[in-house]
Amino acid sequence: MDTRIFKIDPEDIDIRKIREAGEILREGGLVAFPTETVYGLGGDACDAGASEAIYAAKGRPSDNPLIVHICEFSQLEEIAADLPDTARVLADAFWPGPMTLIVNKNQVIPHETTGGLDTVAVRFPSHPIANALIRESGCMIAAPSANTSGRPSPTQARHVIEDLKGKIDAIIDGGPVDIGLESTIVDLTEQVPTILRPGYINKHMLEEAVGEVRVDPGILGKENVHIRPKAPGMRYKHYAPKGNLKIVSGDREKVIEEINRLAAAGETEGKKVGIIATDETRDLYKAGIVISIGDRDDEYQIAHNLFDVLREMDECGAELIYSEEFSTPEIGNAIMNRLLKAAAHQVIEV
Ligand code: AMP
Ligand code: MG
Repeated sequence: MDTRIFKIDPEDIDIRKIREAGEILREGGLVAFPTETVYGLGGDACDAGASEAIYAAKGRPSDNPLIVHICEFSQLEEIAADLPDTARVLADAFWPGPMTLIVNKNQVIPHETTGGLDTVAVRFPSHPIANALIRESGCMIAAPSANTSGRPSPTQARHVIEDLKGKIDAIIDGGPVDIGLESTIVDLTEQVPTILRPGYINKHMLEEAVGEVRVDPGILGKENVHIRPKAPGMRYKHYAPKGNLKIVSGDREKVIEEINRLAAAGETEGKKVGIIATDETRDLYKAGIVISIGDRDDEYQIAHNLFDVLREMDECGAELIYSEEFSTPEIGNAIMNRLLKAAAHQVIEV
């Protein structure tokens, strides 16, 4: 398949190109587009065939539901059944923005889009291109991240091109995304709103808006790997680079010493070694290909660069990858949640 590339400036949107992309969606085709979190692979959420095509293009298991993207608050009511008050409160507080709500669904969205579930994930994104595309297409857009299933999520159009060129109808290149981590998913079908996937909108922010919020125990870290996460997507190996990634955890100096030792040992064995460092530590490594993820104290920069760095590790052919651990008080566990999954929970404590 020939994949058309539309280059669109998010600050000066060429509406003719958006309309062409919208036309593709209306006809059942697939268009990848930027959002403020990561790039999404979009299809008409009401068209079962389009959802099936999304699963096929990504190689995604079809029991892993898609997020429905909307551009009006009223569209939430259009697709939900027995909407709780908390949905309106959270939508008012954080939409348009990087938060996804899980609510009971009615008949409007087919089961193909929701992976067979009677609930639906809904998000009103803030990215101007995403908004224009939803509006102009006249469709609510089902969109998972626009990567091949299992690979790091795409934060730039070139990541989407790498994974999906030739498999989908079009890609809108709107430049690098802003946040770089997928949306926070909040389940409103439980008594207490529950975070199923951590993201930029953290627990504290949600609590300020609705009161008590829980975190799904299935996503809380190594000691809970036996608990099944409620979001189907959080159960799969994910975000993984091709090399074997391990996280080295402990005091900064010991971490650097251990990574240097492991890197030297790997290279002696003839392996290509990659190291994920920070601006402050990058010059302290003596072997391996060292890539900085950004300033240690700027967790938003770390979030922004995380998936790109994992993909860069693939590009340089790293077979063994060692990463420092990052402290991220604001985004909470959103970054380490992705990194731990990418590393299949392999952590070396020093
Ligand atoms: P992605 O769009 O690639 O970020 O993936 C969407 C995420 O939302 C996956 O982790 C899904 O499992 C999760 N998700 C979507 N719909 C639901 C739902 N109805 N219930 C629970 N999790 C959902
Ligand atoms: Mg994804």
